Amino acid sequence: MIKQNLHTHSLYCDGKNSIEEMTLEAIQKEFTVLGFSGHGNCREIDDYSMTEANTQKYIQDVLAVKEKYKDQIHIFLGIEEDILGQRFKKHHPYDYIIGSVHFVKAGNQYLAVDQSQEITHQLVAYFGDFLSYAKSYYNEVKKIANRSEVDIVGHIDLLTKFNENEAFISFDDQEYLQLAYECIDMLIEHKKIFEVNTGAIARGQRQTPYPHHLLLKYIHDHGGKICLNSDCHQKEMLDCYYQEALKLIQDCGFTSMMVLTEQGFMEKEIQEFL
Ligand SMILES: [Zn+2]
Ligand SMILES: [Zn+2]
Repeated sequence: MIKQNLHTHSLYCDGKNSIEEMTLEAIQKEFTVLGFSGHGNCREIDDYSMTEANTQKYIQDVLAVKEKYKDQIHIFLGIEEDILGQRFKKHHPYDYIIGSVHFVKAGNQYLAVDQSQEITHQLVAYFGDFLSYAKSYYNEVKKIANRSEVDIVGHIDLLTKFNENEAFISFDDQEYLQLAYECIDMLIEHKKIFEVNTGAIARGQRQTPYPHHLLLKYIHDHGGKICLNSDCHQKEMLDCYYQEALKLIQDCGFTSMMVLTEQGFMEKEIQEFL
């Protein structure tokens, strides 16, 4: 059986636990595959990503637990690369790379799309309306399609973090959906894997994962591949909403998910997942 999480943060960036604590928790929670994905250096814009010095320690630390616990769990070394951060060469030393958009440029400043409702209001005000903001956001996400080093697209509709009550836009707004669909089409064409990301649920900020189920259904109907990740920042939340998300994934029509192995990503039947 398989239980996998490929989106895990640690004390090296904005996570609450060490690499080893996360690993031990994953073993206890019967994960068979755990990938670490520290925020790649984007310090010119954020204040939480890994500095160059920390990145080197992070790599050593992950490789050390990979060896130490190799009989109990498959550990992989990944990184979450912001589209604005340092560009990684494919792939060494990383086993995989998550590509994410966390910021949109508004005038002469970068604003975080996932920071607060207030900042989302600021972004909407800057662009004039939510659809114009969404267009700029998805244009950034589209750039991931041409990043050959990226395997997984992180939280594709992160801009809707504060829209669960549809305060900014209705999730079935056809113009909004069209913007997201065009982006998804490009990413599928470039064979990117989409993640179902439950991280905001763990942090009490949402009740449903990214992407919205209409987008997840679209990804399925257009042949996109997915994996399930908890974007874990705190060990107790490693499998937060895991079973519920597995059900949602199947309700959207998926019968398989992608699993990282020493030979690269492989497609596995949902029945094989714990
Ligand atoms: Zn992220
Ligand atoms: Zn993350």
